[in-house]
Amino acid sequence: MEYSKLVETYSRLGETQSTLEKTSILAELFEDSEKNIEDIVLLAMGRPFPEWKDLDLGISSKTMVEIISQATGKSKGDVEDAWRDKGDLGIVAEEMVETKTQQRLMSQDLTVEKVLQRLEKVAKMSEKSLDSVDMDTKKKHVADLISSASPEEARYITRTVLQNLRLGVGEGIVRDALSEAFFDGEYADDIQRAYDLSTDFSKVAKACTEGIEEVRRIEIQVFRPIKSMLAKKVDTIDEGFETVGKPAVIDYKYDGMRAQIHVKDGEVKVFTRRLEDVTKQFPDIVRAAKNNLEACNCIIDTEVVAYDPEDGSSIPFQKLSKRIKRKYDIQKLEKQIPVELRPFDIIYSEESLLDKKYTERWSKLEEIVEEVEGELRLVDRTVTDKEEKVTSMQQKALSEGHEGIMMKKQDAKYKPGSRVGYMVKLKPVMETLDLAIIGGEWGEGRRKGWIGSLRLGCYSPEKDEYLEVGKMATGLTDEQLEELTERLEPLIVREEGREIKIRPDVIVEAEYEEIQKSPNYSSGYALRFPRLKQFREDKNEADNVEKVRSLYDSQ
Ligand code: AMP
Repeated sequence: MEYSKLVETYSRLGETQSTLEKTSILAELFEDSEKNIEDIVLLAMGRPFPEWKDLDLGISSKTMVEIISQATGKSKGDVEDAWRDKGDLGIVAEEMVETKTQQRLMSQDLTVEKVLQRLEKVAKMSEKSLDSVDMDTKKKHVADLISSASPEEARYITRTVLQNLRLGVGEGIVRDALSEAFFDGEYADDIQRAYDLSTDFSKVAKACTEGIEEVRRIEIQVFRPIKSMLAKKVDTIDEGFETVGKPAVIDYKYDGMRAQIHVKDGEVKVFTRRLEDVTKQFPDIVRAAKNNLEACNCIIDTEVVAYDPEDGSSIPFQKLSKRIKRKYDIQKLEKQIPVELRPFDIIYSEESLLDKKYTERWSKLEEIVEEVEGELRLVDRTVTDKEEKVTSMQQKALSEGHEGIMMKKQDAKYKPGSRVGYMVKLKPVMETLDLAIIGGEWGEGRRKGWIGSLRLGCYSPEKDEYLEVGKMATGLTDEQLEELTERLEPLIVREEGREIKIRPDVIVEAEYEEIQKSPNYSSGYALRFPRLKQFREDKNEADNVEKVRSLYDSQ
């Protein structure tokens, strides 16, 4: 397929905000591209490769600036200036290609296949350790693409490389568009199920072209991650029992990393909750699974908990997260931050267990697990219908430094990808903090002209200044962002690129998951996942750093 045809669809998608319209535009594209539907469906979401394929282009915005400069003959400084001005490298690439002095390199038009082949080459290079020569070749591959692209094509190639298509096409729209294109709008649930089990829209779309029976035949496959079942949040034990029924399973909620561990004929793969393959980063998980799971083919759902190698006490997720992205010094890190697997569910054991009750799945898990401290142990749990017992379990969990507890429905199936309430989390509610907005960032793309990503500060009486405690990526509606920008704009005291410093006159009440120590913020603390609860119009001073410290200590 001509790449320009795909670009035409991209630009139509960009012109509408309506989900229904986006769905029909995509449905039209899918109908016309039955032959290479596997690629088209991914590209529609801005993904050059399926999620489960461990392929990463490894090109940052900074590198992309160099590539645009190389492909268009413009200076790096010019590209950077334009980026600052437009806030979107896609638009910059488009404009630079439009006004470039050099001729288009190839006279042939770009095809979807050509673009994908190039990008795959680049991603495969990223797998090897990169020296500067490799990096130059990588840049050249992408620059060649931009050189042979029309201005509009350059916009979308750039955005695809940066994995940010900015067209608002998510899973739901793709699912509905497939249903509209191939089944007159029916069977959206079957399509969703097939996607949750395979996490591979290429495969699902191909099946759609062959009929609904093919879609229904899609099943779990060991070594392909499936969507994890998610937990609902409850505020009280009562509410927990109401949701999951009595008696319920009560587990400790550990502060670790969720991992889906796949075993196939003695080989192991590890996937994160975001379906990333992290097998290489965690040779210790692989070993523990090999040594302590007695099954030829299985998939288990596990919390991976880090512990202090000296005294065995558990270490918070924040530290463990270092290991997720790390591609070098793996053995060193493995010693510094060792982990223990705490399985809590099983999804597959020689056959799919999705439709089995949780009690049956748990028995299966007990059957195949051999517990060894420091390597793999089932989660600590109890089964009860008594509130007092849950309370004491909760207190024990918190006093041992865990996050809280989970309550689970005994006769529930495993529902991938949904927050159905078959398991709920009960975490202690954190006291909120009143903080000043001390800075922010001008938005990019659709949010250009609005201030987003707010920096929050608490007050230090000693220094008589505000110290940063975190960044809030707002989660606000467009109207709220607009209002916020109107209020903050007159308070700007300094601007540097997109970064702005704001006079601390607006106070907000912030909720958050927890407080962590952080050398990156001037207060020495960082709020994890801060959210805006409300504006404190009634206040003109923020909480001071002492309060943050004492909340941190009381966690
Ligand atoms: P949250 O991340 O706050 O939505 O809480 C759900 C997460 O808690 C899961 O995705 C797991 O990573 C984690 N977790 C910790 N302990 C357990 C457990 N015993 N059962 C299920 N999930 C757990």
